[in-house]
This record gives sequence, structure tokens and C-alpha cells, in this order.
Amino acid sequence: MARRKKIYEGKGKILYEGPEPGTIVQYFKDDATAFNAQKRDVIDGKGVLNNRLSEFFMTGLNNIGVPTHFIRRLNMREQLVRSCEIVPLEIIVRNFAAGSLSTRLGIEEGTPLPRPIVEYCYKDDKLGDPLVTEEHIAAFGWASQQDMDDILSLALRVNDFLSGVMMAVGIRLVDFKIECGRVYDGDFQRLIVADEISPDSCRLWDMETGQKFDKDVFRRDLGNLTDAYTEVARRLGVMPKNTTQMAKPTLIN
Ligand code: C5P
Repeated sequence: MARRKKIYEGKGKILYEGPEPGTIVQYFKDDATAFNAQKRDVIDGKGVLNNRLSEFFMTGLNNIGVPTHFIRRLNMREQLVRSCEIVPLEIIVRNFAAGSLSTRLGIEEGTPLPRPIVEYCYKDDKLGDPLVTEEHIAAFGWASQQDMDDILSLALRVNDFLSGVMMAVGIRLVDFKIECGRVYDGDFQRLIVADEISPDSCRLWDMETGQKFDKDVFRRDLGNLTDAYTEVARRLGVMPKNTTQMAKPTLIN
């Protein structure tokens, strides 16, 4: 069997060259990292859950006309995605104060924000992904004004979709991060949602109890991360209903 060509290995995923030109195989690892990889662990089953959850969110976005890189899931840990030129920004959308916004501005976690707040961080692990303004983005040429208009529109549409989907299963979408990539159709360039959407990149709180079902469980040592992600998958119907206490995730289909 031919060995696949590894294109990139990040903290949570490995990218391999895909079977057709313009495609990439995205492999979800079990590795969990936080605080720019200062805290790390291997969480059994996390990659399987994130692969399924990212598939669920990206398929839903594709279906409502929000373009994403997702093509299809290949197996438990891998999905086929469209290759794109990643814009070197992390786009964060916040509906409630939490995390670095609460620390930076002294606003209590859980405080509703007057409207969704969009922030940009420059993607650079060595620098710890610093917060940047649109002035920096324009001046350093990381994205054009047209890109920024498209990115803002994508981010807000993802927020509307994800907030609604999560609210329907009793979960508050506190905040999330997306990445965007450029694809070229002939002479035209457009932006699509790339990377992943999973409990690794969102804050998800139970609407009744405030219980956290996201990576803060790992960051803040609040319990078992696989149980938290499994609960999200179970509520969304991505996994069978009666499997709350499983040693390892069991996925339907
Ligand atoms: O840490 P902070 O409060 O800025 O994170 C905001 C949101 O962005 C959280 O949902 C977090 O999980 C996500 N995020 C991410 N990857 C990063 C930084 C933040 O997924 N490198």
C-alpha cells in the first residue's frame, strides 16, 4: 500500500494529501493541548468525537448555503476536505463573556454581551496567537478588505446557525473560533469555513445548570473531557441516546 504524504501536523490534527487534486485528508488526533500547548494530554476517543461533531456542524452549514471545506467523512477519525489557502487569522465570535475576554476586560464570565462581538487573533503559535485589529490585518496584508467583509459575514452566519442548533438541545453557545480559507474557482476567489468546528473550538454550557461541555473541562480540570463531548454528541443525535457512561465512544452509522 502506498504511504500517504503528510502535509502538516498540528496540535489536534494531521493533514495528508487527498486522493484527488485539491483535496486533503484531515485526521483527528486524541491529543489535547491548552495554553499554547503548555498543558497536554491524550484523551481516549476525543478525535473520533471531534471528527463526527465537525462533520455534523459543517454539513449543516453546507446545507444552509454557508460554504465550508467539508466534503465527506471517510472513517472514524478522518474526513475529506477541500484544500484551501488558510487566512492566518483565528476568528472568534462571542455571545457571552468568558475566557480571555473576561480576563482582559474584567467582565464576569456568563455576562450576556449586548451583541455578538467578533475578534481576530493572528495565527502564530510562537507568539501565542495574539489579538489583532483590522488595522494590523490590512497593514500587514493578512487579508484584504473584501476578505474581511466575507469573513465577518461567514462568522455571523456560523454564529446564527450554531447558536440555534445548540439552543435546540439546551446548550448555550458562549463563544467559538473558526478559521477561513480561500478557494479559487477560475478567476474568482471566495472564502469558505475551514479547519474544524467542535467542542475544542467552542464554549458550550448547559442552559439549565451552566455545566461546561467544552475544552474548558480540560483547561480547568473540571472532569472527564470525553464524557463532556459525548454529551454534546448524544444531545445532537450524533450518537445513540442511551450511551452516557461508555468507556469509549460508540458511534452510530
Ligand atoms: O481563550 P478565549 O476566551 O479567547 O477563546 C475564545 C474561544 O475561541 C473559545 O471557544 C476557545 O475554545 C476558542 N479558541 C480556539 N483556539 C484558540 C483560541 C481560542 O479554539 N487558539
